[in-house]
Amino acid sequence: MTRKATHFDILDVPGAPEVTPKALFGMDREALASLLAEMGESAWRGRQLAEAIYVQRLTSINDITTLPLALRGRLTREGWEVGRPAIVQVFRSVDGTERYLVQGQSSGAKGVPETVETVWMPEGDEGEAGDGTEAGSDKRWERATICVSSQVGCAVNCQFCLTAKLGLQRNLGAGEIAGQVVAVLERQGVEIGKDRLNLVFMGMGEPLLNYDNFMGAVRLLVEEVGLSPLRMTVSTSGIVPGIESFGREPAEIRPKLAISLNAPNDAVRSEVMPVNRKWPIEAVIDAVRKVPLRPRERITFEYVLLGGVTNQPEHAREVARLVRRTGLPAKVNLIAWNPGPGIPYEMPAAGSVERFRDLLAAEGVPVYLRRPRGRDIYAACGQLKRTLES
Ligand code: SAH
Ligand code: SF4
Repeated sequence: MTRKATHFDILDVPGAPEVTPKALFGMDREALASLLAEMGESAWRGRQLAEAIYVQRLTSINDITTLPLALRGRLTREGWEVGRPAIVQVFRSVDGTERYLVQGQSSGAKGVPETVETVWMPEGDEGEAGDGTEAGSDKRWERATICVSSQVGCAVNCQFCLTAKLGLQRNLGAGEIAGQVVAVLERQGVEIGKDRLNLVFMGMGEPLLNYDNFMGAVRLLVEEVGLSPLRMTVSTSGIVPGIESFGREPAEIRPKLAISLNAPNDAVRSEVMPVNRKWPIEAVIDAVRKVPLRPRERITFEYVLLGGVTNQPEHAREVARLVRRTGLPAKVNLIAWNPGPGIPYEMPAAGSVERFRDLLAAEGVPVYLRRPRGRDIYAACGQLKRTLES
């Protein structure tokens, strides 16, 4: 199939569910067990139910054949539904990235957007024709990353970010956060434990300002879906009380941590990220130091390069000093700023991104260049904002 590279490509997926007041999706196996216990069922049925919705990824109670027919009937009569968030629209980029609008589980107040954005980024093996040795598999990726949203909109107001323009519309529930992942796993036919998959909580919203639901989702993804927390990274703009709570989470369910540094010093950071006035760089670093790291674990500092504002050679040297001074095992991820309508910044000049990287590397700081994915469909970092006209 030859598809002409258009600005973006919209594929409609039918079947947006109604708002689901009694959703099983989002409950862990203990909660499911106590629900069934109230119905006079034995506790192990809770495990079966969890297996059905999180591992088998079934979306209709009727299809859960491990449960007796009578029990399925009773759950349905009492108004229960699986209620997993569903992909209602797909935007496909020329680079293979897909951006989804995912219908949540509640609509909140009237007029509040119900959908959030989730991004699928396949990597490796791109464009290579199959040579037949992969018979039986039509996978066109070697590893993939799912970018997950934690809120509808965001309250943090970073000046360079499109999501900030929405303001905070509402928090997502744990089931709505985990549901984005399971819906995409299902769409892509991902096999847990076999395929290489990373999750990044870097979509819309500030995860640490929706802490309980965010960690609730992580717990579901680790304990019920079977994903490893070491393959998950949560990114924060530097919410100090959230980082402190995060540091107290057990290592078995704690994702890796990324801090959106984005500026070489407090003066510039306060300008581009007003949240820095409340929690300046040193306060954030102090909180990060208290997070107990696992062997070989590193803290990621994300750094958005804004043309003229944060991408100058002296900024690079300042960032190197700052990162070294933290004494933390760390790496820096550079992201060239992705433009958005009505945002008064400029993309970094050609060559300045590589120069910035080389300066950090020369100072001995591990540094990576994040290549923008799905820019043509507004799926790249900081471009997520529900298409309000849809
Ligand atoms: N709220 C969290 C996570 C979501 S934003 C946070 O801010 O960390 C994920 C990353 O995208 C952050 O590092 C943020 O600095 C970056 N980002 C935001 N807008 C961007 C843009 N327009 N171009 C490139 N990166 C952007
Ligand atoms: Fe919110 Fe992150 Fe965007 Fe800042 S960069 S406004 S914290 S989503």
